[in-house]
Amino acid sequence: MFFDGRVRMNLHEMTWEEFESFVKKYGVVVIPVGSTEQHGPHLPLGTDTIVVSEIARKLAEKIDIVVMPSVAWGYKPQPGSSGGALFPGTCSLDGATLIELVRDLLRELIRNKASKIILLDGHYENSLFLNEGVDLGLRDSGCPSDVKVVIARWFDLVKPEEYENIFSGFKGVGLEHAANLETALMLELRPELVNINKIRSDKPERNPPYQVLPPTSNLIPKTGVLTEIGTVSAHQGALIIQIIIERLINLIKQEFNSN
Ligand code: ZN
Ligand code: MN
Repeated sequence: MFFDGRVRMNLHEMTWEEFESFVKKYGVVVIPVGSTEQHGPHLPLGTDTIVVSEIARKLAEKIDIVVMPSVAWGYKPQPGSSGGALFPGTCSLDGATLIELVRDLLRELIRNKASKIILLDGHYENSLFLNEGVDLGLRDSGCPSDVKVVIARWFDLVKPEEYENIFSGFKGVGLEHAANLETALMLELRPELVNINKIRSDKPERNPPYQVLPPTSNLIPKTGVLTEIGTVSAHQGALIIQIIIERLINLIKQEFNSN
């Protein structure tokens, strides 16, 4: 969107007057939510946060939204979906903290007259905590009838057959931690942060149909990569991004009847 001829999309780069007039005119506010966790020897700890932040930035180039500062902290990664805490650098929130953080943000946005809110989630383990935070934030605000919140995980916006067309031998999003999908996205979005020479394929050591606490190292591959990595390219990442942006634009039109 333009204010006095200048493009503004990030909340932190807008003045209060710009925010106020934006919310009146368009109203869609996006909160990217990621994590800080191990992503194998070749991807940075901030991968989940970087991916959602970049998707939000690209979306803002196509459609009028305000992008909130990203939430760079997520719920604790689990052995079956990413391994997490056994690797250096993984910093997570307790579930209760994440719920309260989202609850506070929601209440503040609603107090500021935002009524069309999207949580764009990039970390598998966040889901139900985000739901709970939104639910409580709405309740705190008196459940205003004009407020709608959408929680969307970017990896759910792409259909299984689309993944299979783009990645040969795709084994499902659940096993894609630090593997083909996230590597391709990072090659497209932030190639300078991908250490190509350190790409290692791996597979879960043991994948029992139950949880073990505290997590033991024999549940998690040594590399922190959950599956085999084939030939990955920025082109594959670009195709995925294109699908996600298209789906988010449709989502905004459908749910908020906006732009
Ligand atoms: Zn990730
Ligand atoms: Mn994650």
